[in-house]
Amino acid sequence: MDFSSKLLENAVYEMSQLPGIGKRTALRLVLHLLKQPGEQTERLSNALLHLRNDIKFCENCHNISDVALCEICANPKRDRSLVCVVEDIRDVMAIENTSQYRGLYHVLGGKISPMEGVGPQDLTIASLVEKTKKGEVKELIFALSSTMEGDTTNFYIYKQLKGLDVSTSTIARGIAVGDELEYADEVTLGRSILNRIPFEGSLKAN
Ligand SMILES: [Zn+2]
Repeated sequence: MDFSSKLLENAVYEMSQLPGIGKRTALRLVLHLLKQPGEQTERLSNALLHLRNDIKFCENCHNISDVALCEICANPKRDRSLVCVVEDIRDVMAIENTSQYRGLYHVLGGKISPMEGVGPQDLTIASLVEKTKKGEVKELIFALSSTMEGDTTNFYIYKQLKGLDVSTSTIARGIAVGDELEYADEVTLGRSILNRIPFEGSLKAN
């Protein structure tokens, strides 16, 4: 792409670094912004900067939050003995939308993936094990995607919990989970949480 302006080229380049945004789309978005009043670009830039600089992660579940303890963890009506293990905030949002789950979450921040150089130490697994050792958690529900990375992560955590007084379960297979959790319809997802199966049983089934 030949640009008549360095400023334009830079803006298009930065925009095209976002996932799913090719050079053409980046150019269209940048030209769109140029046609709008300057305040719009300012609001967009400010929103992104504030997000980046001020974002916090809940000290209990590691979910993205504006305060130290997220709304879910701070809610006294939630069942603290039940913890649903998910990959990221999109899964929390999807499960919350079902209105079927009253426990807490634990956001891992990804899945173990040797291919992408993600090891257990890059995730919040140690904090999950620590939390479980304190004894308040009675059941962990694995809600990661049924991919090899998801399975590896579930199994790694399961092994770390050996000897602890906690039961483990996994949401029903055969429905969209993990990466697709946010796209699964609410009724199906809600049902798969209610009809979860013991994790050990899921191991034997594979
Ligand atoms: Zn939280």
